[in-house]
Amino acid sequence: MKPPVLSFDLGGTKILAALVLNSRVEFRDYSLTHAEEGPQAVIEYIFKAIDRVLKESGLDITQLHSISIASAGAINTKNGIVTLSPNLPGWQNIPLAEKIQKKYPVSVFLLNDANAAAIAEHRYGAGRGTRHMIYITVSTGIGGGIIINNKIYEGASGGAGEIGHMSLDAKGPKCNCGNTGCMETLASGTALAKEAKRRIKGGEESLLSGMVKGKIEKITGKEIGEAAEKGDVVAIASINRIAGYLGVGLVSLVNIFNPEMIVIGGSVAKLGERLLSPARQIVRERAYPLHASAVKIVPAQLGDDAGIIGAAVYAMQQKPFKPPTAL
Ligand SMILES: [Zn+2]
Repeated sequence: MKPPVLSFDLGGTKILAALVLNSRVEFRDYSLTHAEEGPQAVIEYIFKAIDRVLKESGLDITQLHSISIASAGAINTKNGIVTLSPNLPGWQNIPLAEKIQKKYPVSVFLLNDANAAAIAEHRYGAGRGTRHMIYITVSTGIGGGIIINNKIYEGASGGAGEIGHMSLDAKGPKCNCGNTGCMETLASGTALAKEAKRRIKGGEESLLSGMVKGKIEKITGKEIGEAAEKGDVVAIASINRIAGYLGVGLVSLVNIFNPEMIVIGGSVAKLGERLLSPARQIVRERAYPLHASAVKIVPAQLGDDAGIIGAAVYAMQQKPFKPPTAL
């Protein structure tokens, strides 16, 4: 049997670790990131998760193919560095791969979490059999990954695929990245909740008010999805608004990349056709017909495992990693 990869999905709130071989995932280990404690503390939590998975599985570190981490943020994949991560406070130029490799004698790889999910959906999920595919995760924020000729497109420094930071409105809302009017500010789960709250505060009647017992600030995508199912006008209008912006973003991607498929994942994608159908319609209306007719826009299939599966596939494709200081 081939040695498995110990894969991580490092997010702002949760850490998922597991042993992954192809699409098989075993010994899942969930823990809290405690991002507010800063990088060093989070790295210690990662060490503990490595130790737990090894102990549970009975494997020795030398029996692993590698450790591979899908992390939120802008990742320098070549050097294994988290250069910046808005959901991980204090993470600036943290050489995560090197820090892990100093403690564990095994190759360590690092890539962006949405890029990892793109790789996984392409290999084992909705994008199987396609050659040119784009993955978008619509959640609190928006991330993405671009597969060209069956390979993830990494760009000059490993940062490609930041689809959430495509500018849709130059005068739009301020984004966490410093720009304005990014797709993330207009089409994310955060934007969805913001729109519903704005309408309710403006006096529109909605089931949502009762669902959160009048605590409007507590409205999230989940409640909006439930209210929409019951025909709530505010919920439906709010979803249509973000679906519209998502569609406009997709038009640019379709025209630029001419992909065979766009796979949409993330928590907001659980809205299903309510989100995808209006977005598809806009692509049909606005994209070049040649391009629009070639693309399928479909939901993701791998759910929460996409990050760890993709990190493992990526690791299997790489040469053993040596951090710069160890050369
Ligand atoms: Zn942005």
